[in-house]
Parts: sequence; C-alpha cells; structure tokens
Amino acid sequence: MPKIAVIGAGMAGLTCARALGDHGLRPVIFDKGRGLGGRMATRRAEGGFQFDHGAQYLTARSRGFAEMLAGAEAAGALALWPEPRERPAYVGIPGMTGLAKHIGEELDIRKATRIQRIVPEDGHWRLDWQDGSERFDRLVITAPAPQTAALLPEDHDFAEALHSVGMDPCLTLMVGLPTGADLPFVTRRAPEEDISWIACDSAKPGRPDGPCVVAQAGRGWSLRHLELELDAIAERMLPLVREIIGKGATVDPPYLSAHRWRYGLVTSPLGQPYLRDGAKTLFAGGDWCLGAKAEDAWTSGRAIADALIDGL
Ligand SMILES: Cc1cc2nc3c(=O)[nH]c(=O)nc-3n(C[C@H](O)[C@H](O)[C@H](O)COP(=O)(O)OP(=O)(O)OC[C@H]3O[C@@H](n4cnc5c(N)ncnc54)[C@H](O)[C@@H]3O)c2cc1C
Repeated sequence: MPKIAVIGAGMAGLTCARALGDHGLRPVIFDKGRGLGGRMATRRAEGGFQFDHGAQYLTARSRGFAEMLAGAEAAGALALWPEPRERPAYVGIPGMTGLAKHIGEELDIRKATRIQRIVPEDGHWRLDWQDGSERFDRLVITAPAPQTAALLPEDHDFAEALHSVGMDPCLTLMVGLPTGADLPFVTRRAPEEDISWIACDSAKPGRPDGPCVVAQAGRGWSLRHLELELDAIAERMLPLVREIIGKGATVDPPYLSAHRWRYGLVTSPLGQPYLRDGAKTLFAGGDWCLGAKAEDAWTSGRAIADALIDGL
C-alpha cells in the first residue's frame, strides 16, 4: 500500500483523505492547527459563547456536494439554518468544525504539526516538522496557494500557477453580548461597506445560549488594517459594528476578540481542480483552485483523490 500524506485538515484535505480512506488507503493528515476544519472554524469562549469565525454556512451548487451535506445532516453533523434565505444553508453542529470532525472520523490526523519542509528524496517525499520527519510515496498539499508555494522550491513547476491565484485577507470580529441583548437582524450582508457581514451566531441551530455576533470586515478595511495587533483590530472594528447593531448591545461586551485570516477569500482561482506533477506523486489543491466557497474546496479534494487513485 502506498504511503500517502495530506497536508491540511480543512475541507479539501479531509475530503481527499476521506475518499482515499473509503478506497482502502490509509493517508496520514498533517495540520498545523490544534483543531480540524481550517477556515471552517469554531471558537468557544467563557460565558457560553461560541463563534463560527471562518465559514458561516454552506450551500450546494453541485449534486455531489448536496448529497454530502444531506448525509452529514442525517448523521447530526449539520443542520439547516433558515438564515440567510437565498438557498438552503447548512451550519455545522455543534459548530462549523462539527462537519470537519464528521468527515475526518477515524482518519489518522496529526494535529498541531506544521510541515516546515518538503524534500524530494529518491522518488519519495520527505516531510519535516519540528520534532519529526517521515517519507511518503504520494503527497497532497491543501494549504492556501501562497502557503503551498512557500513549502515548495521557488522554481518548482507549480510556482507560476500558485502565484497566479488571488486570495484576499478577511479580518473578523467576535463579540459576546450581555444576556438578553437584542439585535435588529440575524444576518446582514453589505459587500461594499467596511463591515461586509454581520451574523448573530447564537441564532444558529444547536448553539449555546450566550448571545454573540461575528462580523467580517470588507476587503479594503481588511487590507488597510491587516498588520495591526489583534487587540487593536478588535478595538477598531467594535465601534463600526456598534454603529450598525446599536449601542446597547455592545457597550463593555463580556467577550471581544479578532481573528486575522491572511489568506481568507479567493478572488482569482486557478481555474482547474488541482495541480499534479509529471511523476503523478505530488498534488496541490484547495478552494483556491476553483472559487471562494467550501464547496470549491470539497470539489478539489474529491478530484485529487480520484486522480491519485487512478494513478496507482
Ligand atoms: C471569514 C471567512 C468566511 C467564509 N465564509 C464562507 C461561507 O459562508 N460559506 C462558504 O462556503 N465558504 C466560506 N468561506 C470560505 C471557506 O472557509 C473556504 O473555502 C474553505 O474552508 C477552504 O478549505 P480548504 O481546505 O481549501 O482550506 P483551509 O480551510 O484553509 O485548510 C487548509 C489547512 O492547511 C493547514 N496548513 C497550512 N499550511 C500548513 C503546514 N505548513 N503544515 C500543516 N498544515 C498546514 C491549515 O492549518 C488549514 O487547516 C469563508 C472563509 C473565510 C475566511
């Protein structure tokens, strides 16, 4: 059985590894994070607050993704969220990472393991991390395009394609509100404004009681404030959110924190589902191949698994 490594336990990496696992292979997944899901992220905080500070909800365009969502819903890892209403929207249960845990069930996942170097060695791929190293026959990288480029030599065959991809940052604010706080809406989208999205996350199904809000800064604001300390980002975003949702709820909030998604949203995707080297042993993919949604990451992960299995 070939030894296969997958870098990244986000939607693309987990989907790829799941499909390989279902085929009887035993991929090893590495992620630098302490949890699963990548940009499908959930944070729990004291005071009964829980925030989905990355992907907010999932919608399906393709039949395959819709079937996956329906299966996860049946397994209790997703639930329908009647907001926003443009088409059926699902959220993870108990948070967005619930879906990642469901897809990753029984897979060999090495968390908190940042791959520092990839070294081609006698037709194999050696992965180095802080206190370890291992050789694999096949390697799948699903980190965002700029991070994938950083793992490979500057003159690698993938370099031009990886550098052609555009990914924007997104600064996110998490606010825990006082008990009983009243919000004027459940979700608000305003792509052209400094605060482009606000959601009352506690209104999602299956959430703890603590009323809370997730707000995302628009592209321009995120770019202008990208390098500030997280506390400074939170301090500057809060008044903008306060202007929109009203003062009462956000004076002296019991929880306040910001998150920096440096490679948050894909603006110009590659236009094909993955990259593969000539020897068919190295693959790279993720949402950045096809678009800005978790479904794009899923499609890329599936396509890589199919191509990898095909080449065995
Ligand atoms: C703020 C925000 C809101 C969003 N809202 C939505 C939404 O509502 N609906 C939607 O469909 N999509 C949304 N998206 C997009 C969605 O989150 C992504 O398309 C999807 O999660 C990408 O999955 P991925 O597996 O391609 O990448 P990621 O989720 O980024 O996974 C890549 C993984 O690789 C790991 N990694 C990177 N480098 C290394 C390394 N050297 N060693 C080990 N591990 C490494 C990372 O830790 C990460 O876990 C949103 C994104 C953001 C940022």
